[in-house]
Amino acid sequence: MNTFLYERAADTQAALAAGARAGARYLGGGTNLVDLMRETIEHPEMLVDVTGLSVGIEQTEGGGLRIGAGVKNTAAAADRRVRERYPLLSQAILAGASAQIRNMATVGGNLLQRTRCAYFYDDAARCNKRSPGAGCDALGGFNRIHAILGASDACVATHPSDMAVALAALDAVATVEAQNGARDIPLVDFHLLPGDTPQVETALRPGELVTAVTLPPEGFAGRSTYRKVRDRASYAFALVSLAAGLSVEDGTVKDVRLALGGVAHKPWRATQAEAALKGGPATEAAFRAAARVELAGARGLRDNAFKIELAERLITDTLMRLAATQEMA
Ligand SMILES: Cc1cc2nc3c(=O)[nH]c(=O)nc-3n(C[C@H](O)[C@H](O)[C@H](O)COP(=O)(O)OP(=O)(O)OC[C@H]3O[C@@H](n4cnc5c(N)ncnc54)[C@H](O)[C@@H]3O)c2cc1C
Ligand code: SF4
Repeated sequence: MNTFLYERAADTQAALAAGARAGARYLGGGTNLVDLMRETIEHPEMLVDVTGLSVGIEQTEGGGLRIGAGVKNTAAAADRRVRERYPLLSQAILAGASAQIRNMATVGGNLLQRTRCAYFYDDAARCNKRSPGAGCDALGGFNRIHAILGASDACVATHPSDMAVALAALDAVATVEAQNGARDIPLVDFHLLPGDTPQVETALRPGELVTAVTLPPEGFAGRSTYRKVRDRASYAFALVSLAAGLSVEDGTVKDVRLALGGVAHKPWRATQAEAALKGGPATEAAFRAAARVELAGARGLRDNAFKIELAERLITDTLMRLAATQEMA
């Protein structure tokens, strides 16, 4: 049996003081961390319960929306301002897990959830993320759900969050706090590619607490969607997902946002495709060509090469649908 201390933080300062101790981990809804402890993959010496903190959703002075890290996934998806101004985010959250899990899970915990690579959860397998230097059994093993973009020889895992993909597309910013102050991290820089250190998954420093995620005013309402392709219609992680926003005027792409999920160690903002599309024609040929530009660097493994064509089709079809909606309007 692994013993650990548990402390419910009364406020953020108390959480930061407790979280700075060696072996301490923040506890959100526990829907991922407690599973990992039960499987003996994670062994925190102390859990600092932050579920009562940062539970508000507020309008920012600049016209955006600040969602506290302690807001439950269900509450974030159901908030009227999120649904009306950032429907992409609401759709992404509702595409994840089950209602029961979303009722427990927090925004901060969703960002920090760990990969679903089966070898990571199996302590008899070799895994560089769990034991740096041990090797990676997914490389030559069952790798249907693994990465096609930005992977390394050390790790080919994907990040499982749907919410984070929408946040990356929306140019959201995470606020993180430590005892010596706060800083902002753009969502696109929050998660890291594996490189030689797959155990380092985010830009968070030891003891830092995520306190909020801020959305800018532009939410692509009415011009965006989140689509998730998976093995089952519900209760499954993405094989490939796409958060997309598109503005078309007179047949020309004025603005576009694309972020892919299920394809990399982080939400994959498709910046090359976006650059190829902006100012160009809103046609199927242009959408497909842009998708191919983005996926030119994709590499398939034994079981997941299908994701390359799947991602191309998903981008093309989704942009076609968004463009058609605007033509009708
Ligand atoms: C069966 C099942 C199916 C699922 N399907 C999906 C899915 O399809 N899509 C999807 O996106 N997710 C899915 N999930 C994952 C679920 O969304 C996550 O488990 C959940 O979002 C984690 O949130 P939590 O608050 O419970 O985090 P916890 O489990 O409490 O914590 C997760 C991690 O975050 C850290 N942490 C928590 N809060 C903070 C904070 N404020 N600052 C810094 N670190 C923090 C913890 O220390 C821990 O490392 C599924 C989960 C299960 C069990
Ligand atoms: S892909 Fe990453 S998480 Fe999975 S076994 Fe390899 S090193 Fe571990």
